[in-house]
Amino acid sequence: MKAGIASIRKELAGIFSKEEIESLIFLIFERLKGYSRTEFLLAKEVKISDEELSEIKKITSRLKKHEPIQYILGETEFYGLSFFSIPGVLIPRPETEELVQWIIQENQLMAPGILDVGTGTGCIAVSLRKNIQNATVLACDISPVCIETARRNAELNRTEVSVLNYDILNNIPEVDFPELDIIVSNPPYVRETEKKRMDKNVLDFEPGLALFVSDETPLLFYERIADFALIHLRKGGCLYFEINEAFGPECSVLMRQKGFGEVTLKKDINGKDRMIRCKLL
Ligand code: GLN
Repeated sequence: MKAGIASIRKELAGIFSKEEIESLIFLIFERLKGYSRTEFLLAKEVKISDEELSEIKKITSRLKKHEPIQYILGETEFYGLSFFSIPGVLIPRPETEELVQWIIQENQLMAPGILDVGTGTGCIAVSLRKNIQNATVLACDISPVCIETARRNAELNRTEVSVLNYDILNNIPEVDFPELDIIVSNPPYVRETEKKRMDKNVLDFEPGLALFVSDETPLLFYERIADFALIHLRKGGCLYFEINEAFGPECSVLMRQKGFGEVTLKKDINGKDRMIRCKLL
């Protein structure tokens, strides 16, 4: 393995930080050899084959072009679970784990009906279904590749999530939704003008459809999902969103205007307004 590790370090030096390179090395060997962290640490003397070395070279050359490791390996981790991660589907983010954690903490005592709007990989829907006993979980997306990936991820995690094709902005096709206890969404919320401060790996490789909104209507998805929730949530049901850190107060005002109560903003681990929860009174 030493030769492989040395080659990765050499190829990626200057492009990624030292810490990033070390974590990429582990991810690569986890994939190639199926090692856990401990196995990896104990296996440094193990010899690798020529095929493995050439696989490593292929991976590093893609990393050098800033392609996300999650797409290269085809899989990633979210909330302790594995998810297929393929181009066209937004890579699950750690902030979103905090949103999932919040929902799990607050909703253990019932058997809720949950809908995840714009599910992408299905990471929110699947991790909620896994961690809230007796939950019934639906998920929807507009993108065929997301619908397929979310279905595969539910299967990968041996859990039941119904994934529907649904365009939340236009309400098509017409779908008969059951009465819901929780609606959750991590919709597109990055403004076009914010592109300039985003990394190449996101801009060049991740789906814009899942990320961007126009500068004129930054809260478009929040508005539409709130309107949808007014119809489909039962009284006392909750709406949970991941939000753009720049719009915490605006999102709160919007939810109150729409008639929701108990509006609560929550910061992420970096102290940024990142989540909001409100209730249909
Ligand atoms: N947090 C993500 C990012 O900045 C954005 C996710 C989203 O638009 N829903 O890359």
